[in-house]
Amino acid sequence: MIALRLPKLIDELRELLGRERVLANHAELLVYECDGFVIEKNCPDAVVFPASTAEVSAIVKLCNEYDVPFLPRGAGTSLAGGCLPVDGGVMIVLTKMNRILDIQLRDRYAIVEPGVVNVWLTQKLKGTGYHYAPDPSSQGACTIGGNVATNSGGPHTLKYGVTVNHVLGVECVLADGSIVQLGGPAEDAAGLDMPGIMVGSEGTLAIATRVWVRLTRDPQGYRTMLGVFDSVTDATNAISAIIAAGIIPAALEMMDQGILEAVEAAFHFGFPLDAQAILLIEVDGLEAGLDQQRDRISSLCMSNGAREVRQAETIQQRQLLWKSRKQAFGAVGRLSPSYCTQDGVVPRTKLPEILATISEIGRRHAIRIVNVFHAGDGNLHPILLFDERDEDQVRRVLAASEEILEACIACGGSVTGEHGIGVEKLNFMPKLFTADDLATMERLRQAFNPLGRLSPKKMLPTAGACGMEQMHPGRRAAV
Ligand SMILES: Cc1cc2nc3c(=O)[nH]c(=O)nc-3n(C[C@H](O)[C@H](O)[C@H](O)COP(=O)(O)OP(=O)(O)OC[C@H]3O[C@@H](n4cnc5c(N)ncnc54)[C@H](O)[C@@H]3O)c2cc1C
Repeated sequence: MIALRLPKLIDELRELLGRERVLANHAELLVYECDGFVIEKNCPDAVVFPASTAEVSAIVKLCNEYDVPFLPRGAGTSLAGGCLPVDGGVMIVLTKMNRILDIQLRDRYAIVEPGVVNVWLTQKLKGTGYHYAPDPSSQGACTIGGNVATNSGGPHTLKYGVTVNHVLGVECVLADGSIVQLGGPAEDAAGLDMPGIMVGSEGTLAIATRVWVRLTRDPQGYRTMLGVFDSVTDATNAISAIIAAGIIPAALEMMDQGILEAVEAAFHFGFPLDAQAILLIEVDGLEAGLDQQRDRISSLCMSNGAREVRQAETIQQRQLLWKSRKQAFGAVGRLSPSYCTQDGVVPRTKLPEILATISEIGRRHAIRIVNVFHAGDGNLHPILLFDERDEDQVRRVLAASEEILEACIACGGSVTGEHGIGVEKLNFMPKLFTADDLATMERLRQAFNPLGRLSPKKMLPTAGACGMEQMHPGRRAAV
């Protein structure tokens, strides 16, 4: 019984870290009962805040000694329940390891601890001519360790790629507490792409304690536009037309009418509230050629039914546009007490079809759904609005979410573009992968995490049933 071993483990953790860096009081643990996926909750038995790799290693060794599960957590912005301690155990929160250790502009890399908030690095680089390219909309809160674990993308993924394209190396604490370095400052390390294996492993293979990230040169110029459309289909056709014309915008984002209302109330940008959809389009690069790209995009939008195309005329306008987009999720708080964000991906040309399907699913389940998403990547974020205190609404949200993700698969897409599988989408893994594929992934997990104590019941379904089915059979049965 874990409960019998815990008091002794907690004593030892306190001896290691001091009382103030070990939480074991229920009222304090409640803060950690869920992440951004608020539908499933479970308290850890203890939360610890290491300040160094050596401390992470010592914590992991203690958890092994007492046979207690453990899992890493960054800022807890996961939208897939990645930080849910399914069977309790020790949560290792890395936010105190938050130093930018080194910046090497000539070699174009930086070394950061995992608890560095994404935007801090770009802020620190201001004026140097470089930035850190992965820019999830949560970048003001989420950590680089969390980004590595989930292979985060963001609005600028379309041109600059996802986190794996910007990670050169990772220092990790393995599931037995040993410390290894995978990759490092040099490009293209020999052998298997070990950092590539770590990125996107959702904390199931090892705990990242230090990251070597690639730095990207700032573009010489930007043109940022707002295409205003009276129909969602016209907006999505414009997206396909822009890509088909051979233009790769730095970002191509869409917001529908439902989300505009919340964003406008929050930021007063002057969005046209009667528009059915707006596209936020940015091109960047060498100044020479940007005006032509802007004009071409503008004319493609107009020929696909745009009512107007506006351009951000000043840096302040551009910043406000991006603030409105990146904080759109926060603004959703004005529309409902809780929301569940889905993360399906479809081929871009299927966007009109999937958006119509999502509205129909919302209508049928009487759940309001608004959309703000990375349209250029075909990466949808339908946001299902509900009140988590109402069990019936929770059941309808889960049912609608399941149908949306099924529809994405049916369109030739996937159930996650960037938020990961976590606990939320475990039951979709056998729909996306064959039994052989899953067995191979399981063998890889076992090579890193043979006893399964690190982040159990995440990402890969456990034989027979997924963790959440075991925890909440009633809830899953309702889906
Ligand atoms: C408003 C909002 C907007 C968002 N927008 C985007 C977006 O544009 N793009 C995007 O990709 N995501 C987005 N997300 C999802 C989320 O922010 C990302 O998944 C982010 O990378 C999580 O970082 P975090 O520090 O909060 O990690 P957490 O939520 O704390 O953890 C996420 C996962 O990573 C694991 N983990 C955390 N730290 C480590 C570590 N050091 N080593 C190993 N494993 C670790 C955890 O166990 C968990 O499985 C958004 C979320 C919100 C709430």
